[in-house]
Amino acid sequence: PAVSDPLVADLVPRILAGERRALARAITLVESGRADHRAQAAALLETLAGAGRQALRIGLSGTPGVGKSTFIEAFGLMLTGQGLKVAVLAVDPSSARSGGSILGDKTRMERLSRDPMAFIRPSPSQAHLGGVARRTREAVALCEAAGFDVVLIETVGVGQSETLVAEMTDLFILLMAPAGGDELQGVKRGIMEMADMILVNKADGDLKPAAMRTVSDYAGALRLLRKRPQDPEGFPKALPVSALEEQGLKSAWEEMSALAAWRRAHGFFDRRRAAQARHWFESEVREGLLARLHSDPAIRAKMVALGTAVAEGQAAPAAAAAEMLAALGA
Ligand code: GDP
Repeated sequence: PAVSDPLVADLVPRILAGERRALARAITLVESGRADHRAQAAALLETLAGAGRQALRIGLSGTPGVGKSTFIEAFGLMLTGQGLKVAVLAVDPSSARSGGSILGDKTRMERLSRDPMAFIRPSPSQAHLGGVARRTREAVALCEAAGFDVVLIETVGVGQSETLVAEMTDLFILLMAPAGGDELQGVKRGIMEMADMILVNKADGDLKPAAMRTVSDYAGALRLLRKRPQDPEGFPKALPVSALEEQGLKSAWEEMSALAAWRRAHGFFDRRRAAQARHWFESEVREGLLARLHSDPAIRAKMVALGTAVAEGQAAPAAAAAEMLAALGA
């Protein structure tokens, strides 16, 4: 289709050709909240969607210090070594405030960031999770259009960000440290239920025996969970890896590929993507309505006026809300 916007027209062929600078520029565009940028981003994504390219989207979560960046660098290099193009994105809603290490920071993955087959994008310092979610979903779509085979999305093991990443990926991996038996109890059941695979990192040197015990503890815990239809026999799995010594990475990748292939063959892969796309659409509508409530001065004034009427007992909350929604055209 003809693209009228000059920036979009310039970016489309360059992204389709896998040009990393164009990809980076496009991600900056989708990160912007400006209305004209949003319109350009929407046109860009709509045009690129036509290419129908798909990557394997892998979510990776783990607490700080578990070895995420070491793992992503080693795992990413192993994949690029197999001729696969790898993109790394991050969901880190807290980075701006906590002042902790920035997820997806290139200095944490120096070798991978120099690899021409890889693309790393640090997380933007956006305040609210909704904005981060949209930006990341759109960045994933851009990476897919640019021909990346694997998109890794890194997040920290805190609350909502894990759910968010699980909702935009095909596979969700938990990276864990060797632990004592009682620490295992501390892993939230909800998180375990989201995991397609648990990788116990640092299975090397003095930590190896503890890591192997932790693997069997997690394997036992996973077996106790309700069997999910989207899992073949034996999944979800717990496996040992050493990101530092680059051990177990190939087996982990083989298991991930096998799981993805099984889900593709049995329809679960496409079904999950379809559900995710629907969820994304619905949340865009919700966000859009909320944005109008806050940005449109006439709407905002009506909100205040109706709120006051409700507070003073001159209008019933439900009726006032219906009037408000009618004003929004909803
Ligand atoms: P992140 O905060 O999750 O990104 O963790 P890092 O990748 O920065 O790693 C935290 C620390 O754990 C660093 O000192 C790493 O060298 C160390 N580390 C990471 N992976 C391994 C591993 O496989 N084995 C061992 N022994 N140490 C590791």
